[in-house]
Amino acid sequence: MNKIPHNNIYGEDLFKDNVKIENCALIVKPIVPFSLIVELVNFIISIFEIIYWDGEGLTCPEYGEKLYRNSYHERLINKIYPVKLQKYICSNKECNYFNITNIDHIVPKYSNYEMAIRNEPYTQGLI
Ligand SMILES: [Zn+2]
Repeated sequence: MNKIPHNNIYGEDLFKDNVKIENCALIVKPIVPFSLIVELVNFIISIFEIIYWDGEGLTCPEYGEKLYRNSYHERLINKIYPVKLQKYICSNKECNYFNITNIDHIVPKYSNYEMAIRNEPYTQGLI
């Protein structure tokens, strides 16, 4: 993947005058190469942490105590995108219950690839 320096993206600048966001659409003038849009998307992914979680206010299935959020388990999706999975522990110190947000339906446990991509050998070759 070619890394374009960020000041190329946000400098003078090709994007400022030629790309806008409207209702979830990226509206682009023909002067902007598609490869630059791909770079922009990759840049956005690179500055945000991606955290999967099950939400707040969860309770322990053992005796119903509150579950606390407690650090993360990290996985790499499609071998390039790091994501964090929220870990939860029971607020009752006597209880050893813990849970990690499950994304096995997205990326099966011992796989590196997202389900949708695994099923398409052609796409997988492109990554
Ligand atoms: Zn518990």
